[in-house]
Amino acid sequence: RQSLKIGMLPADGIGREVLPAARAAILALGSSIPKTEFIDLAAGFEHFTRTGTALPDETVNILQEECDCAMFGAVSSPSRKVTGYSSPIVALRKKMDLYANIRPVTSVAAEPTGKPSVDLVVIRENTECLYVKQETQTVTENGKEARATRLITERASRRIGEMAFKTALSRPRKHVTIIHKSNVLSITDGLFRETVRAVPTLPGVDGRYDEVTIAEQLVDSAVYRLFREPHIYDVMVAPNLYGDILSDAAAALVGSLGLVPSINAGDSFVMGEPVHGSAPDIAGQDIANPLAAIRSAALMLRHLGYGNGADRIEKAVDQVIREGMVLTPDLGGKSKTSEVTQEVIKRI
Ligand code: NAD
Ligand code: MN
Repeated sequence: RQSLKIGMLPADGIGREVLPAARAAILALGSSIPKTEFIDLAAGFEHFTRTGTALPDETVNILQEECDCAMFGAVSSPSRKVTGYSSPIVALRKKMDLYANIRPVTSVAAEPTGKPSVDLVVIRENTECLYVKQETQTVTENGKEARATRLITERASRRIGEMAFKTALSRPRKHVTIIHKSNVLSITDGLFRETVRAVPTLPGVDGRYDEVTIAEQLVDSAVYRLFREPHIYDVMVAPNLYGDILSDAAAALVGSLGLVPSINAGDSFVMGEPVHGSAPDIAGQDIANPLAAIRSAALMLRHLGYGNGADRIEKAVDQVIREGMVLTPDLGGKSKTSEVTQEVIKRI
């Protein structure tokens, strides 16, 4: 690549405060990555309230036709139904076929919370499960009745399974835990579990995953064990909703949602995105933790093959956390978003 075009979608709330930090971290790499161009793109609930669309066609077109990758901030999706509104991040994952949401959760040594040490990655299926959003409501003689469709396909389960095994191979422990609830949902979660389990025996794998050990865990007890003995987990692979919940739970173990990054990855596109939402409770105060967004930029760069740049960003972030002098309030500090960002930039 001669140059790198990055679509920037800050969207709502603290998404707008943390995405500039990710941009600054990428720029701080200077000439160790190709010449970078950022393209600001519209999306989000605020955009919807002004224009009637949360994800303009133009945004999708530019992402598909011009960008090499993208960074997403966070969106403020209301909990009530708003006619005509649908979450742009859920739509983008489907439209761009970003089928894997990869969420590493790692505690830095001497980390301020004193919680147990965690080094795992949640591999969340990103296109189906309950997030197909096929919901209906009818009125019966006993009152309202609501239903949702939960879609699990062999194809999506297989490709997320392959992503999990591939990821495990790149990690020291090479251990995959399949998360499901097939004691109750034997057909849907049963298909997920069986399909992921069968990945090492697929034609063409030729023993590539022989070193990977496989375990499985029901999702409820997985959360329990995650809090009691997080060290047992390495790669956790899960259907969409379980993966969403597990990664927020794992974030609590490392001290803050504001530390946990992700990428949404497909076969031909990658979008970095902090795991947290738009945090309306702290938006507009310049106190959002920018480290999740900065780490997401690093993950995105590594996925594109710029591992050295990614390492430099991650080392700088780890140093700032370890030193513990300049941290946002979620980590017990008193510093502003902008001050934490500056500390990271200095160390890159
Ligand atoms: P949230 O992740 O926005 O916030 C949960 C808690 O964590 C809040 O107390 C918040 O202040 C804190 N927090 C989150 N990120 C932080 C950061 N970077 N620094 C410091 N503290 C941080 O979840 P929520 O409150 O349940 O949802 C708020 C809105 O975000 C909702 O409208 C929801 O739909 C949306 N949301 C969007 C995404 C996304 O864009 N991918 C993900 C989750 C939630
Ligand atoms: Mn979430």
